[in-house]
Amino acid sequence: MEKTIIRDSLNRPLRDLRISVIDRCNFRCQYCMPSDQFGPDFEFLPRSALLTYEEIERLAKIFIHLGVKKIRLTGGEPLLRKDLPVLIEKLSKLEGLSDLGLTTNGVLLPKQAEKLKLAGLKRVNVSLDSLNDDLFGKINGRGVGTGPVLEGIEAAKQAGLGVKVNMVVKKGLNDSEVVPMAAFCKEKGLELRYIEYMDVGSTNGWKMDDVVTKKQIFEMLKDHFELEPVDPAYFGEVAKHYRYKGTNVKVGFITSVSESFCSSCTRSRLSANGQLFTCLFNGNGHDIRNFMRNGASDEEVSQRIVNIWNNRADRYSDERTDEMNKNRKKIEMSYIGG
Ligand code: SF4
Repeated sequence: MEKTIIRDSLNRPLRDLRISVIDRCNFRCQYCMPSDQFGPDFEFLPRSALLTYEEIERLAKIFIHLGVKKIRLTGGEPLLRKDLPVLIEKLSKLEGLSDLGLTTNGVLLPKQAEKLKLAGLKRVNVSLDSLNDDLFGKINGRGVGTGPVLEGIEAAKQAGLGVKVNMVVKKGLNDSEVVPMAAFCKEKGLELRYIEYMDVGSTNGWKMDDVVTKKQIFEMLKDHFELEPVDPAYFGEVAKHYRYKGTNVKVGFITSVSESFCSSCTRSRLSANGQLFTCLFNGNGHDIRNFMRNGASDEEVSQRIVNIWNNRADRYSDERTDEMNKNRKKIEMSYIGG
C-alpha cells in the first residue's frame, strides 16, 4: 500500500491515533467513570467485542500508511488487558511509527514497567490528581492512596520509560494541589501537565464553573516558580509548555476549555470495540471492527478510514458554548480514553 497523507474537511492531517485496548478500569475516577454510574452491575464489553491484538496491529499498519506517526494506548486502564507487552511488541516493530506511548493510572506499573519497556514502549503518561492520600482516594473512587501510583511512576523511571504526569484540575476539589504537585514533579524531574476539567461524556456532571483555566493555574504557579515559555515541538502539539527557569523540567497545560486547539487537531480514536471516533466529544463512532471481521481487504478498510477522515469537521471545543451543543450526545471517556 502506498503511503499517503489524508486531510479532513478543515485541512487537518491525520497524525495521531489513540487506541483503547479495554473499557474496564480498577479505579472509578470522578472525571470519567464515577462509581454511581459504573457500579458492580455495569456491563462492560465482553472479550469477544474487543479488538484482538492482530486486528489492532493490522489497523495500526493501515493508519501509519495514512500518515499516523504517533500511537498511544489507552483504556479504561490499558494495563488490565492481558499480555499487553505482546501488543506493544507488535506495534513497536511497525515501520513509520515515531512514538508509542501509554496512558495509565500507574498502579500496575511496578509489575509491568520492565516488560513494557523491553517490548518497545517509549513512554507513559500517569494520571495523578493529588498528592493528598484522602483526596486522591476520593477522586479515584476506590480509596486508593497515592503510594501505589508513586511506586508505579518510580518503576517506570527505573525501567527507562519516559514519564509525564497528568493532573485534571477541578475547582473546589483539587485546585489546592496545583502548587504541591508542581513542586513534587519539579523535584523529581517529571513533566507535569495540567488538564482543564472537560465535559467529556455525560456522566461526570461537568459545569463551566468547575473549570480552573490555564490562566488561573499559571497565576497560582507564578508566586512560587519562575517559568519561561517553550516553543511547540511540532504542528498539532496539544500541550502548551513552559520550563522552570534554569532547568530542563517542563510543565504543560492542556487548555481544551479556555484556549481550544481544534484548528490543529490531528487525532483520531479507536474504541476498544473497534469504532473510529474523530473527536473526543463526538458520540458517533464509525464501525471498523465488523467491517474487518466481515472480510474487508486492507484497501477497503483504508478507503473507509479515508472517507471518514475526509468528511471530518469536528471542532467541538471551539463551539462548546454554542446552543446546538447543549444536548449533544458524547462518547464516555472510559470507552475511548482521554
Ligand atoms: S474538541 Fe475534538 S476536534 Fe477539538 S481538539 Fe478536542 S478532539 Fe480535537
